[in-house]
Amino acid sequence: MYLGFWYVALGAVLGVDFTGATSLEACAAEARDGAGRVADQAVLNTFLTCTNRMEREIILWMVGIGPVWACLTAVIYAVYPVILRRKLHPVRIPADSGVRAARQEADVGADGTPTHVRLLTTPGTAGGARVFGAFGRYRLAVDTSLLAPRADGNGLDERSLAMIRHEVAHLRNRDVDITYLTMSS
Ligand SMILES: [Zn+2]
Repeated sequence: MYLGFWYVALGAVLGVDFTGATSLEACAAEARDGAGRVADQAVLNTFLTCTNRMEREIILWMVGIGPVWACLTAVIYAVYPVILRRKLHPVRIPADSGVRAARQEADVGADGTPTHVRLLTTPGTAGGARVFGAFGRYRLAVDTSLLAPRADGNGLDERSLAMIRHEVAHLRNRDVDITYLTMSS
Protein backbone atom coordinates (compact mmCIF):
# COMPACT_ATOMS: atom_id res chain seq x y z
CA MET A 1 0.00 0.00 0.00
CA TYR A 2 2.84 2.31 0.91
CA LEU A 3 4.25 2.31 -2.58
CA GLY A 4 0.98 1.99 -4.42
CA PHE A 5 -2.30 3.79 -4.20
CA TRP A 6 -1.93 4.29 -0.48
CA TYR A 7 -0.78 7.86 -0.92
CA VAL A 8 -3.50 8.78 -3.33
CA ALA A 9 -6.21 7.51 -0.99
CA LEU A 10 -4.64 9.08 2.07
CA GLY A 11 -4.08 12.29 0.18
CA ALA A 12 -7.77 12.49 -0.60
CA VAL A 13 -8.49 12.28 3.13
CA LEU A 14 -5.82 14.81 4.07
CA GLY A 15 -6.53 17.09 1.15
CA VAL A 16 -3.10 16.48 -0.38
CA ASP A 17 -2.83 15.39 -3.98
CA PHE A 18 0.14 13.06 -4.18
CA THR A 19 -0.27 12.58 -7.90
CA GLY A 20 0.77 16.20 -8.38
CA ALA A 21 -2.11 16.86 -10.81
CA THR A 22 -3.74 19.47 -8.59
CA SER A 23 -0.49 21.29 -7.93
CA LEU A 24 0.30 21.37 -11.64
CA GLU A 25 -3.07 22.96 -12.29
CA ALA A 26 -2.60 25.44 -9.48
CA CYS A 27 0.87 26.35 -10.77
CA ALA A 28 -0.42 26.75 -14.31
CA ALA A 29 -3.15 29.07 -13.02
CA GLU A 30 -0.62 31.06 -11.02
CA ALA A 31 1.63 31.40 -14.08
CA ARG A 32 -1.33 32.32 -16.32
CA ASP A 33 -2.11 35.22 -14.00
CA GLY A 34 1.09 36.92 -15.11
CA ALA A 35 0.79 36.01 -18.78
CA GLY A 36 0.60 39.09 -20.98
CA ARG A 37 1.67 41.38 -18.15
CA VAL A 38 5.20 40.05 -17.67
CA ALA A 39 7.79 38.51 -19.98
CA ASP A 40 7.32 34.90 -21.09
CA GLN A 41 10.48 33.93 -19.26
CA ALA A 42 9.03 35.30 -16.01
CA VAL A 43 5.81 33.33 -16.59
CA LEU A 44 7.82 30.17 -17.07
CA ASN A 45 9.92 30.91 -14.00
CA THR A 46 6.82 31.41 -11.90
CA PHE A 47 5.50 28.05 -13.09
CA LEU A 48 8.77 26.18 -12.45
CA THR A 49 9.30 27.73 -9.02
CA CYS A 50 5.76 26.79 -8.14
CA THR A 51 6.08 23.15 -9.28
CA ASN A 52 9.39 22.79 -7.41
CA ARG A 53 7.77 24.05 -4.23
CA MET A 54 4.82 21.67 -4.68
CA GLU A 55 7.13 18.71 -5.30
CA ARG A 56 9.08 19.49 -2.15
CA GLU A 57 5.81 19.61 -0.21
CA ILE A 58 4.74 16.24 -1.59
CA ILE A 59 8.09 14.69 -0.65
CA LEU A 60 7.82 16.08 2.87
CA TRP A 61 4.36 14.61 3.20
CA MET A 62 5.57 11.23 1.98
CA VAL A 63 8.47 11.15 4.42
CA GLY A 64 6.29 12.35 7.27
CA ILE A 65 3.67 9.69 6.67
CA GLY A 66 6.28 6.89 6.77
CA PRO A 67 6.16 6.38 10.56
CA VAL A 68 2.35 6.49 10.53
CA TRP A 69 2.35 3.79 7.90
CA ALA A 70 4.85 1.69 9.88
CA CYS A 71 2.66 1.87 12.99
CA LEU A 72 -0.45 0.92 11.04
CA THR A 73 1.36 -2.05 9.53
CA ALA A 74 2.45 -3.25 12.97
CA VAL A 75 -1.06 -2.90 14.37
CA ILE A 76 -2.69 -4.84 11.51
CA TYR A 77 0.04 -7.49 11.69
CA ALA A 78 -0.56 -7.92 15.43
CA VAL A 79 -4.36 -7.80 15.35
CA TYR A 80 -5.00 -10.04 12.36
CA PRO A 81 -4.02 -13.33 14.07
CA VAL A 82 -6.24 -12.46 17.03
CA ILE A 83 -9.24 -11.96 14.74
CA LEU A 84 -8.41 -15.09 12.79
CA ARG A 85 -8.16 -17.15 15.96
CA ARG A 86 -11.62 -16.01 17.02
CA LYS A 87 -13.10 -16.69 13.61
CA LEU A 88 -11.76 -20.24 13.65
CA HIS A 89 -13.75 -21.04 16.84
CA PRO A 90 -11.16 -23.42 18.29
CA VAL A 91 -12.53 -26.36 20.26
CA ARG A 92 -11.13 -28.49 23.02
CA ILE A 93 -10.82 -32.13 22.20
CA PRO A 94 -9.31 -34.89 24.33
CA ALA A 95 -5.61 -35.36 23.74
CA ASP A 96 -5.81 -38.78 22.13
CA SER A 97 -3.01 -40.28 20.10
CA GLY A 98 -3.93 -38.23 17.02
CA VAL A 99 -3.65 -34.93 18.88
CA ARG A 100 -0.43 -36.00 20.57
CA ALA A 101 1.08 -36.98 17.22
CA ALA A 102 0.10 -33.63 15.72
CA ARG A 103 1.59 -31.74 18.64
CA GLN A 104 4.78 -33.73 18.39
CA GLU A 105 4.96 -33.10 14.67
CA ALA A 106 4.55 -29.36 15.20
CA ASP A 107 7.26 -29.32 17.88
CA VAL A 108 9.72 -31.38 15.91
CA GLY A 109 8.99 -29.50 12.70
CA ALA A 110 9.50 -26.14 14.33
CA ASP A 111 12.96 -27.19 15.46
CA GLY A 112 15.53 -24.60 14.53
CA THR A 113 13.17 -21.66 14.83
CA PRO A 114 13.10 -19.70 18.08
CA THR A 115 9.30 -19.72 18.08
CA HIS A 116 6.73 -21.90 19.66
CA VAL A 117 3.72 -23.26 17.84
CA ARG A 118 0.54 -24.09 19.66
CA LEU A 119 -1.85 -26.60 18.29
CA LEU A 120 -5.35 -25.28 17.84
CA THR A 121 -8.14 -27.71 17.04
CA THR A 122 -10.88 -26.30 14.87
CA PRO A 123 -14.33 -27.75 14.29
CA GLY A 124 -13.97 -27.91 10.50
CA THR A 125 -14.59 -31.20 8.75
CA ALA A 126 -12.99 -30.09 5.49
CA GLY A 127 -9.70 -31.50 6.74
CA GLY A 128 -7.74 -28.29 6.51
CA ALA A 129 -4.79 -26.92 8.40
CA ARG A 130 -3.27 -23.47 8.55
CA VAL A 131 -0.57 -21.74 10.46
CA PHE A 132 -0.74 -18.13 11.55
CA GLY A 133 0.46 -15.75 14.23
CA ALA A 134 2.71 -12.81 14.85
CA PHE A 135 5.77 -11.71 16.82
CA GLY A 136 7.02 -15.25 17.32
CA ARG A 137 3.74 -16.59 18.71
CA TYR A 138 2.22 -18.96 16.24
CA ARG A 139 -0.78 -21.26 16.06
CA LEU A 140 -1.24 -24.33 13.99
CA ALA A 141 -4.97 -24.69 13.43
CA VAL A 142 -5.97 -28.19 12.42
CA ASP A 143 -9.47 -29.42 11.69
CA THR A 144 -10.51 -32.11 14.15
CA SER A 145 -11.30 -34.44 11.26
CA LEU A 146 -7.58 -34.42 10.41
CA LEU A 147 -6.70 -35.41 13.94
CA ALA A 148 -8.58 -38.69 14.01
CA PRO A 149 -6.14 -41.37 15.13
CA ARG A 150 -5.21 -44.12 12.73
CA ALA A 151 -7.26 -47.30 12.79
CA ASP A 152 -4.52 -49.02 14.81
CA GLY A 153 -4.63 -46.13 17.30
CA ASN A 154 -1.04 -45.19 16.55
CA GLY A 155 -0.72 -41.52 15.70
CA LEU A 156 -1.99 -39.88 12.52
CA ASP A 157 -2.42 -41.12 8.99
CA GLU A 158 0.08 -40.05 6.37
CA ARG A 159 -2.20 -37.46 4.76
CA SER A 160 -2.74 -35.62 8.04
CA LEU A 161 0.96 -35.75 8.87
CA ALA A 162 1.83 -34.40 5.44
CA MET A 163 -0.56 -31.47 5.85
CA ILE A 164 0.81 -30.61 9.28
CA ARG A 165 4.39 -30.84 8.02
CA HIS A 166 3.50 -28.62 5.11
CA GLU A 167 2.11 -25.95 7.44
CA VAL A 168 5.07 -26.15 9.80
CA ALA A 169 7.37 -25.77 6.81
CA HIS A 170 5.62 -22.48 6.06
CA LEU A 171 6.51 -21.35 9.54
CA ARG A 172 10.13 -22.39 9.20
CA ASN A 173 10.39 -20.50 5.91
CA ARG A 174 9.03 -17.42 7.65
CA ASP A 175 6.14 -17.46 5.19
CA VAL A 176 3.71 -16.51 7.93
CA ASP A 177 5.52 -13.31 8.83
CA ILE A 178 6.26 -12.46 5.23
CA THR A 179 2.68 -13.02 4.11
CA TYR A 180 1.02 -11.13 6.94
CA LEU A 181 3.51 -8.28 6.92
CA THR A 182 3.08 -7.89 3.17
CA MET A 183 -0.67 -7.98 3.58
CA SER A 184 -0.56 -5.39 6.36
CA SER A 185 1.73 -2.96 4.62
ZN1 LIG B 1 0.83 -24.06 1.88
